[in-house]
Order: sequence, then structure tokens, then C-alpha cells
Amino acid sequence: MNACLMLHGIGPLPPHVGADETPYWVSRETFDTIVELMQKIPARLTFDDGNATDETIALPQLMKAGLKASFFIPSARIGTEGYVSEDAIRELHRDGMEIGSHGCEHLDWTQVSDAEITHDVMQSVEQLSTIIQAPVRSVAIPYGYCDRRVLGVLRTLGMVRVYSSFRGPDSETAWLVRRDCIKKGMSREDILRIISRKPAAAETAINLLKVWRRAGNAALWTS
Ligand SMILES: [Zn+2]
Repeated sequence: MNACLMLHGIGPLPPHVGADETPYWVSRETFDTIVELMQKIPARLTFDDGNATDETIALPQLMKAGLKASFFIPSARIGTEGYVSEDAIRELHRDGMEIGSHGCEHLDWTQVSDAEITHDVMQSVEQLSTIIQAPVRSVAIPYGYCDRRVLGVLRTLGMVRVYSSFRGPDSETAWLVRRDCIKKGMSREDILRIISRKPAAAETAINLLKVWRRAGNAALWTS
């Protein structure tokens, strides 16, 4: 039952990113803290959105610390200003990082048809697997917006791991992975609490209820 952390960008908010993303850009100090804590407490680390800081800041520090992470990249952004290039994605992959889909266009999949979800996912999977010359079989849900229908489509598409924004620690083998978003201004204590917490029984029950309402039955959570 390790925590799975979700990060976006590191450092000051770059000009190409909208101000609404401010809470999702953590300082370098916050990232240093995450790296330091992860060397002591096992946890999983993921990055959404394919920001250039995945390669320029996160990768060198992860390598130095001997840590691995998963990077979920909206493929329509590859090579555009402020986002990872094809070379950067290859480097991440070569260094042992997982490359996963975040769709092409960063769409809210609850608002589009099954066919549009399929197209958005499969096109990005094809593009990313061509870049790294290896299969891409995991996906992080843009905005974390999902319901039973979306998860059903992702299941049909053969995704082996789906990263959600439902909070809380998870088993290593869950098909639908819970994640805790690390936000700007979180203290070392906040992060330590997330990384080391074991869910209380009441919290587990509440989480299950939320998941049931929002994302369907327990079968969706297991492989
Ligand atoms: Zn995203």
C-alpha cells in the first residue's frame, strides 16, 4: 500500500502555461523534499502533462537519487514550446522511466464519445510507442475526470494500468491507481503525511463509496 504521487511542473510558472495551473507547479525545494523522502519511504512518482521540466529538472535528480517515475505525456504537445521533445522522451525512456499516455489533446473524456476517447488514446499510444520503440500500455486520465463509461473504454483498449486522481495509497497491482496530487506550497510535513500514511478504516470505506459512485464497481480497480 504505497502512495503514488502526482506532479506536473517544477519551478516558476512558465509563460506558456495558464495562471489556472499555478497550484500544480511546485518549487524546486518541494521537489527536493519529495526526492529526499522517497529515498527513505517507498512511494511511486508520476508526472502529468509532459512539461519540459520532466527532462530538465526531474530526470537528472531522479537519476542521481536512483529513483524511477512514470511520465504521462499529451502527445499533441510534444515538441511545442515548454513541453518535452521526442528526444527528451527517448532519454526518459532510455534512463528507465515509464512513458505513458495522457491522451493527445488533454480532453475531458467524460464529455466526448467512446469513439473520440478511443481515437485520443490510441493515437497518443501509437505516437509515443513509435518514439520510444516500445509498447505504451498505461494511461493517466486528463484532469482525473472519469466515470464508469470512460474506464470501460480504457479497459477495452487494453490499457494495463490507469492512473486516476482518486486519492489514497494503493496496492502495486491495482488496475486503477489512486494518486495524491502534490501542490504548490505543501510543506515537508504535508508530503511526509501523504507518503507515509496508512488509510484509516473509515477513510477506506469513504473512498470506496466515492469510487463506487464516480467510477463504478470494484472490478474496475483490479487487474
Ligand atoms: Zn493533465
